[in-house]
Amino acid sequence: MLLTSLLLLTGARSVLAKCKCTPIDDCWPSSSKWNALNTSVDGQLIYNQPIAKPCYPGLGYNAQLCQDISKEWTESPFQELSPIGYTYPLVNTCPPVNASVAAYPLCDLGNAPVYTINATKANDVATGVRFAKENNVRLVIKNTGHDIVGRSQGYGSLMIWIKYIRDGLDYQERYTPPDGFCQTNWTGSAITVGGGYKWEEVYDFSAKNGRIVVGGDDKTVGSIGGYLQGGGHGAASHTFGLATDQVLEYKVVLASGEVVTASACQHTDLFTALRGGGGGTFGVVVSATIKAHHTHPVLSHTLQVVPRNGSLTQLLNVTAEIMSRYPILSDEGFAGYAILLRANGKVLYEHTFMKMIESNSSTTIGRAKQIINRQVVNNLLRLNMTMFYVKSRFQHFPSFQEYFLGSGDHQAQAASTPIMASRFFDKKSLLFQQKNLSDMLRTLFSQEGPGVHATSSVLELCLVGGGQVLEHVPHTSVHPAWRRTYLLAEQVDFWPENAGSQGIQQVKNEATFKKLNAMKALTPGMGTYLNEADGYDPEWKEDWFGSRYGWLKSVKQKYDPEEVFWCWRCVGSESWEEVKGGTIYGPLCKKN
Ligand SMILES: Cc1cc2nc3c(=O)[nH]c(=O)nc-3n(C[C@H](O)[C@H](O)[C@H](O)COP(=O)(O)OP(=O)(O)OC[C@H]3O[C@@H](n4cnc5c(N)ncnc54)[C@H](O)[C@@H]3O)c2cc1C
Repeated sequence: MLLTSLLLLTGARSVLAKCKCTPIDDCWPSSSKWNALNTSVDGQLIYNQPIAKPCYPGLGYNAQLCQDISKEWTESPFQELSPIGYTYPLVNTCPPVNASVAAYPLCDLGNAPVYTINATKANDVATGVRFAKENNVRLVIKNTGHDIVGRSQGYGSLMIWIKYIRDGLDYQERYTPPDGFCQTNWTGSAITVGGGYKWEEVYDFSAKNGRIVVGGDDKTVGSIGGYLQGGGHGAASHTFGLATDQVLEYKVVLASGEVVTASACQHTDLFTALRGGGGGTFGVVVSATIKAHHTHPVLSHTLQVVPRNGSLTQLLNVTAEIMSRYPILSDEGFAGYAILLRANGKVLYEHTFMKMIESNSSTTIGRAKQIINRQVVNNLLRLNMTMFYVKSRFQHFPSFQEYFLGSGDHQAQAASTPIMASRFFDKKSLLFQQKNLSDMLRTLFSQEGPGVHATSSVLELCLVGGGQVLEHVPHTSVHPAWRRTYLLAEQVDFWPENAGSQGIQQVKNEATFKKLNAMKALTPGMGTYLNEADGYDPEWKEDWFGSRYGWLKSVKQKYDPEEVFWCWRCVGSESWEEVKGGTIYGPLCKKN
């Protein structure tokens, strides 16, 4: 045992423990190999440097540049420009502090990859995949870097970045499968997204063609990567189904380097796995063709409730009351997002829900308004100015795109200290369950007991299920509980800046063992959305994949027998572990 540990620490680990090679190992590829790789990808190989390196003494120190970086650090578009920029870094080993003043000791790549192939075509991806396999180097696939549990990061790795594959957006008025023999029951329109386009670009393109696609509520999320392959919800999912249900075909680079089309007729098992089984696991998607639907007029409702005396308890009770009506609103066609927030001494509930309406007639609009008023607003207005400040507003938009552009900026900030716990809620866990919901909310927002607690918390209430999401769709592999889901509730907690590692652990434990369990207690047999979940949930297989896990693993073994693709808590990931030896990152090694 002692000998094994010593060997692991002395660089022999890659041989003895079947680890991926890292820069400190003898097996790490030589400079000439990296140079050859660079040539074969047309000079698109990047040697990564920490983004905030100019803040640190030594070569490259630049106080002005450091200040500029600090200002933009929490903006997703800024992070996205760097191959190693992440919206949710989880572990930040080079924060943008003025290190010369603070004598901050550390600035290294940490979990960020060592090299990046800035791929511009499928062939670059294939070259990178083969290089990683032949040289036993850990491989990471990244699109926008939005992943919440760090699946597009990896210590000592080679990354393939698909952001700059931009083979265009292509509109087909009437979809025809590429293989003329393949039967499809989709005769509507379709859009082929040929690379690393963000949803905002795809929405814009769809709208120009008078169409809607199901995409993220956040416009900066990538369209064909982890979002699409892991499920994908948005305001339109209630009406048309999950984003992954919309995929008609994928172009995929396999672990062998071969490029294939996966559809309901070709590589059907791969197609099914890529429709819900998660990104970074089965292959690298370089394009996806998705359904495009006719646009609709939209009626939206925004509501804001703030307790007059700042009482959190009153707000939790009224939120529970509103949540208990969600299934009724959803069954009437409303969908969207709400937040319950406690931050900087303030508490509030806020939602923007929308309904795609069939016509602009005053009867249709009037009826839709009546539902919201009867179920939610009328009761609240009775308490307006006495117990709460209530703001309620309806808006009418001629199309989905106008709604999207006119309802907030749809862009979350990057966050360096968040922890998330989430859960699906079906109809029976919500409808008229005020008391249970109120008790659960109290647990989620409690700061009682010894130890460090979250400084601020946001409960994101994603009313994105119901409707078409409830329909079983052939050739999909999302957690079966998605098909019973009305609400996806996501608790996001922020630990204090000065929490220290023990304090951070306490906040994480509270999220996993207290808050997540409180949500689970109300929703037996449900699960959660693998893209927005607690990475420390010990029951992740069951909670993220449910009964599909075993089948997904068999597809993984078929298409990636040598385990070239690996990401944290992805299908098949349990065969490997990151050997950290008490630090915060380390090599990826095969478990015995
Ligand atoms: C600010 C923010 C807002 C969000 N809003 C929504 C939302 O509205 N709806 C929703 O459903 N989710 C939302 N999410 C969650 C989002 O779906 C996940 O973070 C998702 O993993 C992002 O995918 P990505 O490809 O953009 O990110 P990345 O971090 O680049 O990749 C995520 C995973 O997919 C893999 N991957 C990336 N590209 C490919 C590819 N081409 N082929 C194969 N694997 C690939 C990566 O290896 C990694 O495992 C949001 C997340 C954030 C941070």
